[in-house]
Amino acid sequence: MSRFLSSKYRDLEAYTPGEQPRDMKYIKLNTNESPYPPSKRVIDALSSDEVMKLNLYSDPTAKELKARIAELYGVESENVFVSNGSDDILNFSFMAFCEGDKTAVSFPEISYGFYSVYAELHGVKANVIPLKDDFSIDPCDYMKNDSTVVIANPNAPTGIALGLDDIEGIVKSNPDHLVLVDEAYVDFGAQSAIELTQKYSNLLVVCTFSKSRSLAGARLGFAIASKEIIADLEKIKYSTNPYNINRLSLIAGEMAILDNGYYMDNCKRIVETREYTQNALRKLGFYVTDSKANFIFAKSDKIGGEELYLKLKARGILIRHFSKEKIKDYNRITVGTKAEMDSLISAITEILKEL
Ligand SMILES: *Cc1c(COP(=O)(O)O)cnc(C)c1O
Repeated sequence: MSRFLSSKYRDLEAYTPGEQPRDMKYIKLNTNESPYPPSKRVIDALSSDEVMKLNLYSDPTAKELKARIAELYGVESENVFVSNGSDDILNFSFMAFCEGDKTAVSFPEISYGFYSVYAELHGVKANVIPLKDDFSIDPCDYMKNDSTVVIANPNAPTGIALGLDDIEGIVKSNPDHLVLVDEAYVDFGAQSAIELTQKYSNLLVVCTFSKSRSLAGARLGFAIASKEIIADLEKIKYSTNPYNINRLSLIAGEMAILDNGYYMDNCKRIVETREYTQNALRKLGFYVTDSKANFIFAKSDKIGGEELYLKLKARGILIRHFSKEKIKDYNRITVGTKAEMDSLISAITEILKEL
């Protein structure tokens, strides 16, 4: 730390992303990327003609991309916000819809690690709510706490989803507060709340191209809400970085929406592979949560979470371990291709034998 850093940020604890190693080739099951490449239309559209245009700024209104997203989800372009990854949208939302002690923010104790980072970054009081013993979210906990609400559905890293009724209950019971539903993993088996944005003016649904649409490296996220909420997000964007989506990512996003069928087929394959892998892990004595995401959350009585993580890493397989006390026995394992999961299962079988 230099002596110039603002006192505001001296104690800030930044988010720790999963490892993105460059030293050797791992089977990478640690950051919930898609194991499948972008669709052919995406690849073809990123032509050298488009690269030639990189001397020009991108469209700050993202008109085409918004129109495509609006069409797919049956809303108007004015109901759509796009940005440089959904992390960007979460950051903007904490800036826009939370305020110090006045409008605190409530989110689950075990959830996406960025929520507490953004709360701290923006000096917002965080009301951190424990999960139930089975790691599920109790919707009642979010109904009357006089604060902005942020919920990942499905939740991470548990993978457990709330039903649409429960989400609607939370939204309905907070008419004077914004409810943000982070649907990063919704395409892998949960119900989206996007349709409810037509009915409730306090609901903001945040989505990403990073997981189900194979574009983690393009950095593209979108959000759907009332025109007024979207206008607020635009205001923050235009006050920070109006060109925050580059030309190539805009094109990639448009083509990905046009090729929606390809991605939804991939999601189906990932769901099948998830169920296959979970069954195999159960046979090896693991406990797994009821995941509706593209990852598995698993623990074994035979081996600690960190030990399994390290032993798999030594064998060239990366998974994600969190040291938080309540989940330290678990690991989060991204669902890759069936072949990758077979390698994982063989490696775990060997590791258990050697104990
Ligand atoms: C991966 C993830 C994000 C961030 O996605 P980007 O669009 O890549 O920034 C947001 N929320 C949750 C819960 C995630 O797991």
